[in-house]
Amino acid sequence: MADHKGELQQARRDVVALGIAAAAILMFVGTGGTVFPRVLAALSGHGAGPDRTLASALLLNVALVIFGWRRYRELTREVEERRLAEEQSRLLAATDPLTGCLNRRSIAEAMADLLAQVAPRGKAIVVAMLDLDNFKRINDVHSHLGGDTLLRTTAERLRASLPADALIARMGGDEFACVIPFDPAHADELEQLVHQTVAALRLPVEFQGSEFETTVSTGLARSDSDGVDSTKLLHMADIAMFSAKRAGRNAVAWFEPAMENELRFRSELESGIRRGISAGEFVPFYEKQVDLETGELVGFEMLARWNSPKLGLVGPDLFIPVAEEIGAIVDLSECVIRQALRDAKAWAPHLTLAINISPYQLRDPWFAQRLLKLLVEANFPPSRLEVEITESSLHENIGLVRSMITSLKNQGVRISLDDFGTGYSSLSQLRSLPFDRIKIDRSFVTSLPENEESATIVQSIVSLGQGLGLPVTAEGVENEEVLQALQRFNGLKAQGYHYGRPADAAAVTAELEQLQLLLEPPTHAAPREVAESPGLRASNG
Ligand code: C2E
Ligand code: MG
Ligand code: MG
Repeated sequence: MADHKGELQQARRDVVALGIAAAAILMFVGTGGTVFPRVLAALSGHGAGPDRTLASALLLNVALVIFGWRRYRELTREVEERRLAEEQSRLLAATDPLTGCLNRRSIAEAMADLLAQVAPRGKAIVVAMLDLDNFKRINDVHSHLGGDTLLRTTAERLRASLPADALIARMGGDEFACVIPFDPAHADELEQLVHQTVAALRLPVEFQGSEFETTVSTGLARSDSDGVDSTKLLHMADIAMFSAKRAGRNAVAWFEPAMENELRFRSELESGIRRGISAGEFVPFYEKQVDLETGELVGFEMLARWNSPKLGLVGPDLFIPVAEEIGAIVDLSECVIRQALRDAKAWAPHLTLAINISPYQLRDPWFAQRLLKLLVEANFPPSRLEVEITESSLHENIGLVRSMITSLKNQGVRISLDDFGTGYSSLSQLRSLPFDRIKIDRSFVTSLPENEESATIVQSIVSLGQGLGLPVTAEGVENEEVLQALQRFNGLKAQGYHYGRPADAAAVTAELEQLQLLLEPPTHAAPREVAESPGLRASNG
């Protein structure tokens, strides 16, 4: 308000100044017309020279003209400065300061303009939404300076790789949107351009004497088939990009209408998982583990299930990867482990409890501490607990895994290597990590009777276990045939559907009660699912 008033006064003063200058020029012309001839006559000796008053008036006029001229120059400079400042702030509002690309606010409008330009020439536009796959990791490892370098390099590579009339915007974080005009009759050229660009982004980036690399997930949507509205196109490319990410990253995906439903399902899944954790919908199920030689029950592996009010009973293959991605795996896992420890405390003391740990949890340096805290809270003996780590999770951060295993082992917890045979761990890795058991992946076990190759693999894993002094468990024993094929190996433990499907706490309690393997009378409600268990014998350790 005050500014506005000040500007008005300034403008009024400018008008007055210009008025004075204009009047001064007119008077200068008038008085000059009288004074100059007299001056000239006096100089040539033919007259008495100008009147003093007139000469003074002329000088005043000159001063006023100079004053007016100065003010005019000042004004033009001010106008120019203001114009530049406005342009600058418009540019700043429309671009991303780090990369110089357009930003989320300006891209839709620029895109609509571009579309209006190219459409009459029979051309279309494609939106490529790109998301860097390892940005967070690079930011964590190389600090935000490394992250900034990656973002700037990405922008430079996009500019170098795409045609001059393409638009490039940073949508925020590590996401870029490129809008590329193309000829629908030569869509193959466009596809080639996209692949070249993505390949350029995968090249190593130099930073402070070292190098890092990233891959890109790309979603594509085109104006001629997917829709013409620019906001809608951006949204579609975004959906396609998510789909590329979920397909394992480092991929390019064209938008398809089905992706929209998938995305909706996915976001419902995410919110359902978050809600389900606090609502106690995640529950432990248990799968029997049996000593093959004696046929005795030796313990249970806990397998998480989601009792979803919307989807019914859901297996971990659906919810664990999502929980990992949304950072909910630690809470989820702790809530089922807590219940499992409470359940297992009622079992006969020689029965062990095995739990599965996600690679995400392994990256947490405090994981061992958290787990030990749960054990203390539940007053559960660590020697009855086995932690299963999948072979494929070993490749990341082996140092951290080693120290975690060591601190758990120091407390008496045992560690098994799960799904062995699928994760390509090396022999030296196996020897350097102090595992207590190897679990042969069920893919080899299930096909044991009919597949020679599987039989050879099982045979070599058993020998490897013997060589390293590690006992072996075979997972996925589905029938009597497999069981018999396994019985020619010594010292194996087994688990699988042959001994019954994984069952909930109530069912397990009921069965253990029958086998007289419960410490206390059951406190649970009636069992929901009583597993059959052929050839299972109770043992007291
Ligand atoms: P896993 O640890 O290898 O568990 C064995 C899986 O094989 C279980 O699947 C089990 O139901 C299934 N299975 C058992 N016997 C047989 C059989 O005879 N035939 C066949 N075809 N399958 C059998 P489930 O429960 O779907 O679990 C899948 C995976 O999810 C588990 O593989 C484990 O890696 C993971 N998982 C389960 N619970 C948790 C958890 O609480 N936390 C984490 N991080 N992962 C979990
Ligand atoms: Mg397991
Ligand atoms: Mg397994």
